[in-house]
Amino acid sequence: MPDSAAASRPYDDSLPIDLHVHSTVSDGTEPPAEVMRQAARAGLGTVALTDHDSLDGWDEAAAEARALGIALLGGVEFSTQIGPGSVHMLGYLVDPAHAELLDTMREIRESRFSRAERMVERISADYPLHWDDVLAEAEEGATIGRPHIADALARKGIVADRTAAFETILHWRGGYYQPHFAPHPTEAIRLIRDAGGVAVIAHPGSRGQRGMQGSALGELVEAGLRGVEIGHRENDELSRSLLRGYARKFDLIVTGSSDYHGDGKPNRLGEHTTEPEQLDRILALGTGSGLLA
Ligand code: AMP
Ligand code: FE
Ligand code: FE
Ligand code: ZN
Repeated sequence: MPDSAAASRPYDDSLPIDLHVHSTVSDGTEPPAEVMRQAARAGLGTVALTDHDSLDGWDEAAAEARALGIALLGGVEFSTQIGPGSVHMLGYLVDPAHAELLDTMREIRESRFSRAERMVERISADYPLHWDDVLAEAEEGATIGRPHIADALARKGIVADRTAAFETILHWRGGYYQPHFAPHPTEAIRLIRDAGGVAVIAHPGSRGQRGMQGSALGELVEAGLRGVEIGHRENDELSRSLLRGYARKFDLIVTGSSDYHGDGKPNRLGEHTTEPEQLDRILALGTGSGLLA
């Protein structure tokens, strides 16, 4: 990239870029402002806040990012599904006032809430866990997920930590799993685009999403998918090489990100990063919102 282009960038391209992080607005363990402080401490120059099915952390994160002098993109990680398989779809630079987008996210959050209640009902037949214990682990209005049930199980001493809970009681074959509503990925892509955003499929190599490395990915590209998250700890080497092939074939934006969840997951800020040339493409395509800081 020539100096003139670099000089015109609205973010510091000499510092690492991490486009996938979570806060207590969903299943991260730190509030949005604290996530921004951790990002600055980790030496990042640009971050995207991508809570599950919610934009509620944008404003708090933006105020802190501005104070810290780091660049911030507003994002979301949409829960979607194909049959029983869940697929995560990142949406960047969407319009935060887009009514249909907000309605669909609210619908997913409400379905997640009652699904968690159903799971806890089943778990409580075998373990001393109550719905109030789960509510106590989540911020008011947060997108409720299995991580909050996991935290309640850990606090009660029923499991050691989140990861142990996911490997046992909360596993989809663990006997207590319940599904929740989520749109098809093509519907989420349509919504993200309609809201002026840029759709990037999250960690296609992670468990349960590996079908997204074949012809199914082509169908999503036809629906308007613009990018693929290749740098992610849940994509193994085989996945990455397959995905690099598809990215070339379909001219997709390629990202790398941490998927930071605070103490909720071992993922560390900046453990995978995105190249400025790729962020430039996202910024050029997104029209629903600009950099928030
Ligand atoms: P849910 O969407 O409620 O079914 O829960 C899945 C979410 O839990 C994912 O978005 C992850 O962020 C989180 N998760 C999945 N596996 C683990 C794990 N082993 N440890 C901590 N969090 C996890
Ligand atoms: Fe998560
Ligand atoms: Fe995800
Ligand atoms: Zn995530």
